[in-house]
Amino acid sequence: MTKMNTPYYQPIHKEIDVFEHTYKCKIPFLLKGPTGTGKSRFIEFMAHKLDTKLITISCHEETSSTDLIGRFIIKGAETIWLDGPLTTAVKEGHIIYLDEIAEARPDVIVAIHSLTDHRRELFIDKLGETFKAHENFMLVASFNPGYQRGFKELKPSTRQRFVSISFDYPEAKLEAEILVSETNIQPDIAKKLVNIATKIRNLTELGLTETVSTRLLVDAAKLIHVGLPKRLSVHVAVIEPLTDDLEVIQALKDLSDLMI
Ligand code: ADP
Repeated sequence: MTKMNTPYYQPIHKEIDVFEHTYKCKIPFLLKGPTGTGKSRFIEFMAHKLDTKLITISCHEETSSTDLIGRFIIKGAETIWLDGPLTTAVKEGHIIYLDEIAEARPDVIVAIHSLTDHRRELFIDKLGETFKAHENFMLVASFNPGYQRGFKELKPSTRQRFVSISFDYPEAKLEAEILVSETNIQPDIAKKLVNIATKIRNLTELGLTETVSTRLLVDAAKLIHVGLPKRLSVHVAVIEPLTDDLEVIQALKDLSDLMI
């Protein structure tokens, strides 16, 4: 099997160093930050760098401990047990990444408890068995603190089980470099896109739930690179995804048209 190319990741602070050391200790790791700030890309990059398998679970409100741990299924006349992704990672020694962990059902947090302290073990009540985690097993999760304005929180008793690092939008020069590397767009256009993002991010009075992420800029840059007009690309890839308020949309379009 050929090895996948290293995913492109532009380091922002000391996150690579911090992760490498945390991996040595196998302490659970929490990536905090708004959507589209490179959390998933970072963990893909780290798993590749550390030459370990990564199992990613995108948590949503229906994600339950059963989805992670496993379930009995009926096969012909037999009932057989099927390991879920968490159990596989625990037994075989992979990194499991629970993306947006606060979105999952509360029983997920209960299920990972004994894996996130000195015990490093998984209790499977349906089997009545406890499994000690493989020495290479590591639990990584992401969490968007912006959600706290709504209802999804992580309790301090859970948060304090993780080494944590905050992700945010990179400074302008680095963000423009990311756009160029990801899409091959011309550097001057990348710079303009980042300027638009910076301007909108500073307009806190708009009360947007989430502001312009690097992901949105990458999308706009991709569209421009394949020939869609620049202004239209910004309208559809950056502004429309942000809000449904027609007045705000128009104001942001007017603003961005002046900048690109
Ligand atoms: P998150 O998991 O935080 O929601 P992603 O990791 O999916 O965000 O990042 C969204 C996109 O933004 C990526 O696909 C990548 O194109 C780009 N990106 C953001 N930050 C970085 C970075 N530091 N290095 C490389 N690409 C990045």
